Amino acid sequence: MPSQDLSPLRLTIDRRRAEFADPEFEDRFLRHFLPERNAQLKASLLFSAFFYVAFGVTDLTTLGITPIAWAMVALRVLVGVAALGGYVAVSRNPDSVRVSIVTTCTVLVVGLVVFPILCWYQPSAMAWNLMSFALVLMAVYVNFPNRFVYAVAIGVGASVEFAAMLIFQDTLNPDDILALVLMLILGNALGYIAASRFHLAQREQFRSSLLLQQLADRDPLTGCYNRRVLQSGLLDAELARARRYGSALSAILCDIDHFKRINDSYGHAAGDQVLSGFAGLLQSMTQTTDGSVIRYGGEEFLLVLPQAELPEAHALAERIRHAFANTPTAIGGGAYVSATASFGIASIPTLHAYVPPKFDALIEAADIQLYAVKHGGRNGVRGTIVSATPEPLAAGA
Ligand code: GH3
Ligand code: MG
Ligand code: MG
Repeated sequence: MPSQDLSPLRLTIDRRRAEFADPEFEDRFLRHFLPERNAQLKASLLFSAFFYVAFGVTDLTTLGITPIAWAMVALRVLVGVAALGGYVAVSRNPDSVRVSIVTTCTVLVVGLVVFPILCWYQPSAMAWNLMSFALVLMAVYVNFPNRFVYAVAIGVGASVEFAAMLIFQDTLNPDDILALVLMLILGNALGYIAASRFHLAQREQFRSSLLLQQLADRDPLTGCYNRRVLQSGLLDAELARARRYGSALSAILCDIDHFKRINDSYGHAAGDQVLSGFAGLLQSMTQTTDGSVIRYGGEEFLLVLPQAELPEAHALAERIRHAFANTPTAIGGGAYVSATASFGIASIPTLHAYVPPKFDALIEAADIQLYAVKHGGRNGVRGTIVSATPEPLAAGA
């Protein structure tokens, strides 16, 4: 299970750039939406390749069948080929955010550099070209998925280039130039607002869904996963992974000893502090592993350690047991409470023939070990290898 750092700092959205302020988190967001983004990009590439080339008909009708008109059609085909090349690149690299963004930018820049060249030779169709350009601007800001800052840079850059082309063409009177400049500013402003809203809304939605997920999956007192993750089948997915790759997997059940006495002697609030302290210790001591900490019951926790053999899990449990027993918890007013915990482990070794079909079997085996420790005087660690009736591995399992 992936660990999630959802601190407010990580989740801050830089509203000016319409991105998460933390580049790593922004990257995670981009990767999450990559399939959706690439589907949109591929549709936009095909759409724009078709229309860019199809409008070649207007070059031929405006200029007649002349070498210039054919040269313009050739330029349009070039843009179409660039768009199709982008389509192939994105299809071949479906997991690369970089390829997706570079493709978007490259195809837009090629298309927008060629566009004023086409317009240059058709001054009589200036009104039509301006209209087409306004629509192209919408594609830059809205249809082509891109980083917001890149969309703005391309939109504004292309508008400046387009205005410069019309001014140099020198067929416009000052009124027309004013109208043109205002229209380009309007087009960019509308595109800017639409794109900014879209980028921000998408990130806010992503942030909300992660926070909701966290609320649903985490225990509020300790910040550990709650039992819902057991029901959601996430642990069975770990088991399936162990089965598929023949890798080891260990489960450690741990329970604070005589916790009721702590509540009775120091109060429930102090009990909560001991509980949080223990959970914090479990989390910090499993941080370097791939492990997850689940609050299994009141003062009982489950550690799931993928790829950990029994000796490794045993050593970790011993380290935690030792650290907890030797670190009294501060409960306020200068008072400290000492407590101990007991640990029961169940492990599936690497390349073991038997992997139980359900994670519950692993928990049950760990519980038996924990029970034995409790009966043996508490504050200890016991483990077992899960080796119930071996099941033949199904082909392809
Ligand atoms: P053992 O060593 O056999 O585990 O004894 P124990 O006293 O720890 O176990 P028992 O199951 O008898 O008591 C567990 C207690 O944990 C009872 C319950 O009130 C307390 N508890 C459960 N959840 C919480 C919690 O969130 N906060 C506090 N403060 N106490 C809790
Ligand atoms: Mg207990
Ligand atoms: Mg208990």
